[in-house]
Amino acid sequence: MNRYNILLDPAQMPDHWYNIVADMPVPMDPPLHPGTMKPCEPGDLAAIFPEPLIEQEMSAQRDISIPGEVMDIYRLWRPTPLRRAYRLEKALGTPAKIYYKNESVSPSGSHKINTSVPQVYYNKKSGINEITTETGAGQWGTALSIACSMFDVKCTVYMVRVSYEQKPYRRILIETYGGKVVPSPSNTTDSGRAFLARDPDSTGSLGMAISEAVEVAAKSGGSIKYALGSVLNHVLLHNSIIGLEAKKQMELAGDYPDVVIGCCGGGSNFAGLAFPFVQDKIVKKLKTDIIASEPAACPTLTRGLYAYDFGDTAHLTPLLKQYTLGSNFMPPGIHAGGLRYHGVAQQVAHLAHQDIIRAVAVKQNPVFEASLMFAKAEGIVPAPESGHAIRAAVDEALKCKETGEKKTILFNLSGHGHFDMSSYESYLANKLQDYELDDEVIQAAEAEIPKVETVV
Ligand SMILES: *Cc1c(COP(=O)(O)O)cnc(C)c1O
Repeated sequence: MNRYNILLDPAQMPDHWYNIVADMPVPMDPPLHPGTMKPCEPGDLAAIFPEPLIEQEMSAQRDISIPGEVMDIYRLWRPTPLRRAYRLEKALGTPAKIYYKNESVSPSGSHKINTSVPQVYYNKKSGINEITTETGAGQWGTALSIACSMFDVKCTVYMVRVSYEQKPYRRILIETYGGKVVPSPSNTTDSGRAFLARDPDSTGSLGMAISEAVEVAAKSGGSIKYALGSVLNHVLLHNSIIGLEAKKQMELAGDYPDVVIGCCGGGSNFAGLAFPFVQDKIVKKLKTDIIASEPAACPTLTRGLYAYDFGDTAHLTPLLKQYTLGSNFMPPGIHAGGLRYHGVAQQVAHLAHQDIIRAVAVKQNPVFEASLMFAKAEGIVPAPESGHAIRAAVDEALKCKETGEKKTILFNLSGHGHFDMSSYESYLANKLQDYELDDEVIQAAEAEIPKVETVV
């Protein structure tokens, strides 16, 4: 009998998050204040984040306990299943063993609720009753809106205008949970008005929407805070529950991965699954191959510059050392909206720079080809973002087919694609383009990255 689902007893759900900072062989460069270009003080972030999250953002403590109220909400869908993809293995004819962690079973349909719940919890505990954020494809706006409804906090979501217009169901979903959605750029903020003055027909970008949401929090006099769905240390920390569970489940399966894969936009689902295995790689000196899979149309880790850069277009956020294509980079309109960010988490960038993890870039059509193969074999329609991890896992499994190696491959299914059917429609109608950026486009974007003299 095939044991497809390796389920963890709810009583065995981890009661702490894992902080990779404690095990980094070389410390990271500090975030810089956007005005002074000097290392940030905790107080610099106080205008937009509540204190417990700033503390986590700067913490070097290895294990951080998960509050009981957050554990209680996690238990609505966690522990998530680890699935052995016997049927995909068979379809590929590979001797490799393929496992995936299924984060698509959450209420929001993706991993993002792993951080929205604790973020809203810490805000509420700090006396905050209103939170702003941005959303691109809509998954983060949905996850935050659900968490805000659970803690009775007001939620305003600046949604990239092109998504607002093209993805009405995502907007309605956010509104169903009580969130308010504003198309960005909007005329409700100074930065939004400036973007519109430059281009009245702007379709928006994640960088612009972040500027608007940050501005509202920064100018609220402390009553409104901002929440980010990826990139920051505390977001990656909250998602570590994915990898901590997966480690226990691999043990239950009597196995350990040779290869660990996640798709990578800002880096939170990749880090969430991978960092507990990165810990083993560093501490136990294992040879695990840990791969971040990104779109060829937005190749941050594989072709970006390793440099300090802003997180947003209006340059209101601290500068983080990262791989970046420049904060004004406008990626081509690929369907994996969640992977269209110009930068990446500094923790992911740092580990890639140290060659502890590596990155691959994959193109849209091969991603959807693998996604359809996965859907037919496993029965789950993956999010286009998750399809990037599936493509990389399939490629690794096909290499094993050639060499005869029986590697164990683990990847993260970060979400389902039920709200992304228009991208499947385009693929099925042969209308998807495989973008590969010219070097000139990347060089032009990188020319705008600020020149920062390292002050430390
Ligand atoms: C947002 C999103 C991503 C990309 O964000 P990361 O922070 O890189 O994880 C990937 N998959 C899904 C399903 C998403 O919603």
